[in-house]
Amino acid sequence: MTADDAGRESAGGTTVYDLAPDCTIEAVEDDELYLATVNGVVDYGVFVDLSEHVSGLVHESNLSGTFAVGDEFVVELDQIRENGDVAFAAVDADDYDAVGVEPEYDVADTETLTERVGETVTLEGEVVQTKQTGGPTIFHVRDETGIIPCAAFEEAGVRAHPGVDVDDVVRINGDVERREDAVQVEVDSLEALDGEDAQAVRDRLAEAMEERAEPHDAEPLIDWPAFEKLRPDLREVANLLRETVLESRPIRVRHHADGDGMCASVPVQYALERFIAETHEDPEAPRHLLKRLPSKAPFYEMEDATRDLNFALEDRARHGQKLPLLLMLDNGSTAEDVPAYENLAHYDIPIAVVDHHHPDPDAVEDLLDAHVNPYLHDEDYRITTGMMCVELARMIYPGIEDELRHVPAVAGLSDRSKADAMDDYLGLAREEGYDEETLRDISEALDYEAHWLRYDAGRHLINDVLNVDCDDEERHHELVAFLADRAREDVDEQLDAAMSHVKHEALENGAHLYRIDVENHAHRFTYPAPGKTTGEIHDRKVQETGDPVITIGYGPDFAVLRSDGVRLDIPTMVSELDEGIVGGGVSGGGHLVVGSIKFVQGRREEVLDSLVEKMAAADIDEELSSTVQRD
Ligand code: MN
Repeated sequence: MTADDAGRESAGGTTVYDLAPDCTIEAVEDDELYLATVNGVVDYGVFVDLSEHVSGLVHESNLSGTFAVGDEFVVELDQIRENGDVAFAAVDADDYDAVGVEPEYDVADTETLTERVGETVTLEGEVVQTKQTGGPTIFHVRDETGIIPCAAFEEAGVRAHPGVDVDDVVRINGDVERREDAVQVEVDSLEALDGEDAQAVRDRLAEAMEERAEPHDAEPLIDWPAFEKLRPDLREVANLLRETVLESRPIRVRHHADGDGMCASVPVQYALERFIAETHEDPEAPRHLLKRLPSKAPFYEMEDATRDLNFALEDRARHGQKLPLLLMLDNGSTAEDVPAYENLAHYDIPIAVVDHHHPDPDAVEDLLDAHVNPYLHDEDYRITTGMMCVELARMIYPGIEDELRHVPAVAGLSDRSKADAMDDYLGLAREEGYDEETLRDISEALDYEAHWLRYDAGRHLINDVLNVDCDDEERHHELVAFLADRAREDVDEQLDAAMSHVKHEALENGAHLYRIDVENHAHRFTYPAPGKTTGEIHDRKVQETGDPVITIGYGPDFAVLRSDGVRLDIPTMVSELDEGIVGGGVSGGGHLVVGSIKFVQGRREEVLDSLVEKMAAADIDEELSSTVQRD
């Protein structure tokens, strides 16, 4: 057997080719024989089909005998007219070998299509989104090189190819066209592939994915052996996030709404947006596929999880999107996150966490697809999430570090990191023109804006404050100076009112205890909120006394705890209180020396008294200080 260019095989004798239904005129050659089927009889001849896409006229002058629709006979190409009309001539061939011909596809790469506007191309790939518009149905199709929207029109607002959905492998023939800034394919034909054809495409995609999802290797910004222990885990998250972008799964980022949380999420958002833009031909893709949202609570609340899940399901129903991956930043490592995670686990929503709060690995590990936390490597909060996420962002998308070199220092100052590496980070920032005071101002300004933004991400505003992806450096400086001043004035105003109500008590262990009723003796619903108000009072008392200090800021059904120089174990105290006070409804937690608890209003006195008792019994340890404040 021999095979020529078009895949024809001849078995000797006369060969007649039988075209597969999806063969085009490209498959028809001069001086070869083809099997034709009559589809219409007219006065001057018959019309025949060689395939679904190849039809033509056999003129009576090229024909002998009579024919009816459905009859088969052998033809050869007579001519192709300038207008595209095709004419065939009948050939006598009684004894022949029929040989099937499969179409040859010159499959185009989506990434080359911007240079092929006006051409007709064939694409093979996987449908990653199906969106019905008021006009055509848009199939977003991914191949080995990118993702492109393909518009198939049935009737205005009517779903084209209703049998084809997300995850199907398709072959599309269509014209490349430019619509405004974007390139898309206007679909002529769309066919769902199955069996070996589909598998071949899937294999190609999987191979390309493995290569393209590989994170970038970036030289560490600073030399810090402790940090290097986390690098393999960060690489794993970078790999997962790149894969998520390449398969066009949306990403939902939830982050702690404080300075470090912003310093973590903004660089990752910046990197992901660039990678999404590079992967998708659709210029709207970064906006549609990435959402960053703050979490007000220091854990993933059921309220947030329910909202996220609801949005995800709505987006799937309305925009034909896949369900998202959840990326938790500066949050998400603790047992308190578990109920929300369990809720998401009913759906296909992978979860990745980068956090530096004391984790409960046994509680969360089974629910997470990736988990980075310094405590898992015998390190601690001093490696802040912002520091980790600047490296993560560089692994996701290269060439962005010039915009990010000051960010780890802001993150470290925000969370009062006592890492030795802070000097190096401050040095990096100084090279970019930021002195420590300016970095502190940025940190204050972030905290201030996070407060007023409440449940909003404030994408552009926060970028301007942090000076990442910001186009007006002068405005950045003015904005930060203004916001930091306002924040300090608001803190002073709050403390002016509150300080005279702070009650002092000397504990048996020698520590000072300060208590403040933040509900009645501080302004409510303003900046700073109870957590930060308590923290500011605490800091002033630590400075004033130079001794071990515990501060409790309480409201009707909550208390915020801060301590320096006392060996507290807040999570243990919370569980003891919960057991010891019947009907107290005590819950909460946090870290060893900083945390918040909730209780029922009617048991407040018992809870606070019992809490103070436990604090008075705690050991003094001058080394311990409260950091990583959360409210
Ligand atoms: Mn943090």
